[in-house]
Amino acid sequence: MKRLFKSYYPCFAALFYFISGSGQSYVPVYAGIADQCSETRIIQNLTEFENLGIKSKGTAAQANTLTWLKNKYLSYGYTLSQITTDSFSYGGSTSVNLIVTKTGTVYPNTFVIIDGHYDTIYGPGTNDNGSGVAVILEIAKLLQNVSTEYSIKFINFSGEEDGLLGSQHYVTTVVNGTVPKMNIRLVFNIDEVGGVAGANNNTIMCERDTDNNPSTNNAASNTMTAQLIACVNLYSSLTPSLSYAYSSDYVPFENNGEIITGFFEGNESTHPHSSSDRLINMDPAYVHQVARAATGAALHFAKATQATLDIATNEKDYGVSFFPVPAHNRLTIHRGDLGGVSYRFTLTDLSGKIVLDTQIQHPGTEETITLVNLASGVYSAAVIAGEASVTKKIVIE
Ligand SMILES: [Zn+2]
Repeated sequence: MKRLFKSYYPCFAALFYFISGSGQSYVPVYAGIADQCSETRIIQNLTEFENLGIKSKGTAAQANTLTWLKNKYLSYGYTLSQITTDSFSYGGSTSVNLIVTKTGTVYPNTFVIIDGHYDTIYGPGTNDNGSGVAVILEIAKLLQNVSTEYSIKFINFSGEEDGLLGSQHYVTTVVNGTVPKMNIRLVFNIDEVGGVAGANNNTIMCERDTDNNPSTNNAASNTMTAQLIACVNLYSSLTPSLSYAYSSDYVPFENNGEIITGFFEGNESTHPHSSSDRLINMDPAYVHQVARAATGAALHFAKATQATLDIATNEKDYGVSFFPVPAHNRLTIHRGDLGGVSYRFTLTDLSGKIVLDTQIQHPGTEETITLVNLASGVYSAAVIAGEASVTKKIVIE
């Protein structure tokens, strides 16, 4: 549900914010993960989504899409314990939001929410919002085994087309349902990014919060959207264009004071909310580029642990050390003055994949880990005890 009141900001605004952007630098590991976005898989997911039919309130199609989504996450390696639902009723039927949570290594209770709606109206909604669904699935698949400092929630909302009902229910009952309320770093909403068949689809709208309800979160949204714009430039072939947020699932969050940003297609299709909102009228190569940009942005916003490799020497290290250097088939962890009755030890390879993840109970000053089937190379070794974590680069031969 979008573009009811469309009016672009003047071009100079986009130029200004682009130039004054975030100074982010290219992270080769992020690009390596973004490179794994697959247009073939996106087309497959869009086709399956289209074949599920018109996913409006109370339909079997909507229920089947919920099951389809859940099975996708399971097939990508997520477990049932990571998947929750949030149900809400209106107009005589019940709809369901699907939430997949990936716990962060450093800030487990602070969340980057990556969301988009899966309900549709008057048509199969392959663009609005099968495209957002396909992009979110792509990010979820590629980040499943990548450790991030912040927790991530992938949320597939329902009830969007009937008035942002699913996202409003989630904010009211889940985000605000605890004391203190859920701590959200950012909400990144992806809605209608399918492009127009036959057109030159090279622009992506990057949406920031500009309204005054409240206005206190607008500056932070502007900062995050500048970072999103930087990620589009760094990790895709698309041209970012600054726009503003309205009429999608970030609205209940921004009204709750959260920090939001979003993606929307640059060429606006005329097909959404009709029976012709189908893959044949879209540009899957464009969706693929959007997925690349969104994957780079997700890694940036959730801080993939790989990024800590180069700054590890600046962190407080509690006297933690690893030896020998290089390590062969064993690695000894010296815990220094890191406290706690247990710690978690992880090894992450250069692609960002966690290759070893173990919990050590009642550790001594030194603990020795056996390394099995690890390729020679540079790894990021992390010791995490409660709020404290130390990450260092190690070499295995
Ligand atoms: Zn939509």
